[in-house]
Amino acid sequence: MSQHFHVVVIGGGVLGCACAIALGRRLGAGGVALLESRVIGSGLSARHSGIVRAANRSRMAARMAKQAADMWRQLQSHWGVKLTYQTPGALWITSEQDAASWQAIAQHLALEGVAFTELSAEEATALCEHVISTHPQERYFYEPEAMILETGEILTALHQALRNHSVAVFEHCQVEDILRNSRGEVEALTTSQGRFSCDYIINAAGAWSAHLFARCGLVIPVALEPVLAANFLISHRAIPENLPIIADQVHRFYIRRWPGSQLHVHRPRSRDPQAIKAAFALSALALEGADQIYGVAGRTYSDDALTHYQVYLRDRIPKVGSPIALTSFCSFFDITPDLGFILGPDPRVANLFHCLGAGQALKYAPVFGEITAALVCAEDPGFDLQEFTIERFFTGTGQQPCFPTQVEVFLVLKIGARCYGYSLSSVLGYFHQ
Ligand SMILES: Cc1cc2nc3c(=O)[nH]c(=O)nc-3n(C[C@H](O)[C@H](O)[C@H](O)COP(=O)(O)OP(=O)(O)OC[C@H]3O[C@@H](n4cnc5c(N)ncnc54)[C@H](O)[C@@H]3O)c2cc1C
Repeated sequence: MSQHFHVVVIGGGVLGCACAIALGRRLGAGGVALLESRVIGSGLSARHSGIVRAANRSRMAARMAKQAADMWRQLQSHWGVKLTYQTPGALWITSEQDAASWQAIAQHLALEGVAFTELSAEEATALCEHVISTHPQERYFYEPEAMILETGEILTALHQALRNHSVAVFEHCQVEDILRNSRGEVEALTTSQGRFSCDYIINAAGAWSAHLFARCGLVIPVALEPVLAANFLISHRAIPENLPIIADQVHRFYIRRWPGSQLHVHRPRSRDPQAIKAAFALSALALEGADQIYGVAGRTYSDDALTHYQVYLRDRIPKVGSPIALTSFCSFFDITPDLGFILGPDPRVANLFHCLGAGQALKYAPVFGEITAALVCAEDPGFDLQEFTIERFFTGTGQQPCFPTQVEVFLVLKIGARCYGYSLSSVLGYFHQ
């Protein structure tokens, strides 16, 4: 059986859904298909913290985030569905030595209309109704418009909006191969539900992208950085109802309130270049790719990691006493070498577009959907995408991305029915560590 759609989106996470919804509005019934190997939201998009904020080191990303936050608030008028949200704001905690770079970020955020102001330690504690501890070597910034969403509600909204926009959704439909014509364009996909031909293809397969596109010899620079996310039950009286999101850059923790008298905690992505290199080197050897974490065996974490989170919570919010570990799971950030998104056309394949979030993209989803749909339909995306193109990783003539280990040689391995694309030096780098 073969089916044809003008556009096929691979991946039913929040980004793939957002692309399909925006395209559905433009193309109408029969125009766009969304192929998801399991069910909608079964990747990272059911395993995030639901934090929507605009502070970003990149001014363009901050501009996109501000617009996306407005869209999340007004989802009814964009996707025709309602979504509730809370706006507790975010308290950013930085070190004394990083304060200058955060002040510079505050300046570009001001130019983008994002409120982001420095607070004294006294103001920061007052903001948190005196439940947090502060330290003399820390600095504090406040983003009052930061919001929290709830995962279940987002997933429901995605389903409704896909329906409202006549997107043909194929769940349990694994893309197995990507077939290219003599000009190198993608002409069809073979899947567990047959063959799909298309005029345009959007890659929103997130952490699975590298393995999937290795099948047709394309290197996509995405690796996995594992992260433990945990929810702790605490006394309802230990923290105020409107405790701001705590984005602690010093100790590297995010904390937010969670329904049911819980605090949700996880680490942010590592910005350490060595850690990024290690993630790429290890990905080269992880033959199961993202499935290594979400597969049957899953990935485990030590009790020490959970204890570490508990100790941090008690230090930062002494009133929580001994927080009860309620649920925890190992997830991953789908990182790129510079931790930036990959958005827009792939110059190696005329009809291929990427929409990849680099481990930080729930908040951007409505805007990324519009940008990607605009590009496919040859409209103005409304943002300068230069810093987010996949081309930035190319080393020149080879038109293949350069990984953080300065790779020039790429390997495509075929093991059984599967193909894997890796940089030679990332493989060698692993053995030399
Ligand atoms: C602990 C944690 C907390 C986070 N918190 C936040 C936050 O507070 N705010 C924020 O903005 N971001 C957050 N993020 C990041 C956010 O979750 C992701 O950026 C976002 O969910 C990515 O969505 P996606 O659609 O790109 O990927 P995914 O949701 O992973 O979707 C990719 C989909 O592609 C499918 N797929 C893969 N291969 C194939 C194939 N061959 N055929 C068909 N389908 C395929 C997968 O099954 C999957 O459903 C967090 C991340 C983590 C790990």
